Amino acid sequence: MTQFSEFTDLCVKIESIPGSLEMTDVFAAFLKEADEDELAVSCYMIMGEIFPPWTGKKLGLGPNLLYAALSKAAGISPEKIQTLLRQTGDIGETTYQALRDENNSQSTFSSFFTSADDGSDDGGGAGANGGAGAGGVSSKRGRLSVREVYDRLKEIADVSGKGAQSQKIKTLQFLFSESSPEEAKYISRIALEELRIGVGEGIVRDSISKAFGVPVDLVEFAYMVTNDLGKVAAASRAGGADALEMQRIQIDRPVKMMLAQVTNSIEAAFAEQSEVAVEWKFDGARLQIHKNGDSVRLYSRRLEDVTGSLPDVVQTVLASVTATDAVLDGEAIAVDENGGLRPFQDILRRFRRKYDVETTSHNIPIHVNLFDLLYADGESFIEKPLTARREKLSSIVKTGSKGISVDDLTITNDPEKAAEIYSAALNAGHEGIMLKNPSSPYSPGKRGKNWLKKKPVMDTLDLVVIGGEWGSGKRKNKIGSYVLACYDDVRNVSLEIGRVGTGISDELLDSLTEQFSGLIEAEDGVMIKIKPEIVFEIAFEEIQKSPNYPAGYALRFPRLVRVRDDKTVEEIDTLEKVERMYQGQKETS
Ligand code: AMP
Repeated sequence: MTQFSEFTDLCVKIESIPGSLEMTDVFAAFLKEADEDELAVSCYMIMGEIFPPWTGKKLGLGPNLLYAALSKAAGISPEKIQTLLRQTGDIGETTYQALRDENNSQSTFSSFFTSADDGSDDGGGAGANGGAGAGGVSSKRGRLSVREVYDRLKEIADVSGKGAQSQKIKTLQFLFSESSPEEAKYISRIALEELRIGVGEGIVRDSISKAFGVPVDLVEFAYMVTNDLGKVAAASRAGGADALEMQRIQIDRPVKMMLAQVTNSIEAAFAEQSEVAVEWKFDGARLQIHKNGDSVRLYSRRLEDVTGSLPDVVQTVLASVTATDAVLDGEAIAVDENGGLRPFQDILRRFRRKYDVETTSHNIPIHVNLFDLLYADGESFIEKPLTARREKLSSIVKTGSKGISVDDLTITNDPEKAAEIYSAALNAGHEGIMLKNPSSPYSPGKRGKNWLKKKPVMDTLDLVVIGGEWGSGKRKNKIGSYVLACYDDVRNVSLEIGRVGTGISDELLDSLTEQFSGLIEAEDGVMIKIKPEIVFEIAFEEIQKSPNYPAGYALRFPRLVRVRDDKTVEEIDTLEKVERMYQGQKETS
């Protein structure tokens, strides 16, 4: 059994390492020693996750619940917690300080629970970082195992219904009460999905390869099809390379979507490859369809199960897809009775609908444009070239079906032809075109040159909101402007890149203020720190170099285009993309 204190030591050590190679060595060594039932959960938790991506689940714990639990566990007032938060600006550090200063008042808490794994209260060998300054509470070190922390956090995610809030607080309070201040620091960060010690999927993938002596490309392959690094780690240890090769796409386990990169010009796409597969780019919502005989499940871009909201699409798929089992990829758009396009927001309304689904589906019909196939009747297609996938896709979807069709795809070596398709797409009210490599495989979760997108205006950026400012005058009691961040995927941190306060109607301002109020982590005067969860699509006139923001860039005339409810924080645009756009801007100016 691995103690959570050892996991804490691991986090402390990794945080102090600047390079990913050394991080990989350290985590690989940890994985090698981890017990069977702690192997997978260690992979999730080191990335600050509880659930593997295919589940589409998040812990979803509001900061206020955590503050309440911390306040009880530490025996200090919620106001004091807020003061600490303002001082430290970090929930981990706040937790550490709150518990370091408390005076053992919570030590009887474990009597609330029957299964507390407290048989190992030896705190032995705690030395390494020992919860520096933990004084009288340092003996708590080592009471919790990795597995127990994981199970309790999972329990928090799963509890619902009446009394759920207080149950969540109780469970967290228990975890805090049973841990040293240093352990609690990391529990808090994981609980709020803010671990951010610099370990992302790449490092976990490489660590698995190193720990169990399996080739990294096989680990990558197995991850692509299972969407679960914990499962991949377990398979690597149990069966080595053979076990990885045997991993397959499973129906009803959504696979990460393949993504597209921006291209500044159609010609640039033809410079990459001589022949290009050109398709319309529809402005709707991504939909992954899993057909399993008579049952159909539908997943959003965030891999949430949206089947319940789209019963009409289920019927359409059953009526028009002839394969018994299939995994299909496409874009759902909202249309009117005559097939004309409706605004983007309408499709999101359909995806989010939980009640009155029948009426809404009647009022806002959906058309699904299929553009890819991952699996059909026992055969995986992701390794096959786009042309083969499309051929099979066309053969299993009845032509002339209502509500669903396979996109038109044109393979050409002529940029003029692509430009014609581009104009036609724009004239028909669509976003632009996709320029795909006809011989490329389907790479789940990857954003690369095999799929390029071309849209007319200078591109927008999808950024996460990490803070805000209370407004004044007309905007009093409303969050009048928002602090935005992009993602540095090398260091696995989000970096502030600017603020936005325009493009927001009064109505939207009200609903945003309400939406964000549950995510406020700390306040300092008019400034607010917000849990990074909500993604804004931001249009701007230009990217400029700027020493004023941690990203090193600033946006000129930023404007909110829309809230990207369909995107997760993990999907925001990267610093690398900002840099690329900046370079592209220089080349075209
Ligand atoms: P973006 O959301 O701007 O990153 O653009 C990529 C998205 O365009 C994909 O995730 C799809 O949801 C959407 N899309 C629309 N039409 C297509 C198409 N023909 N092929 C691939 N993606 C498409």
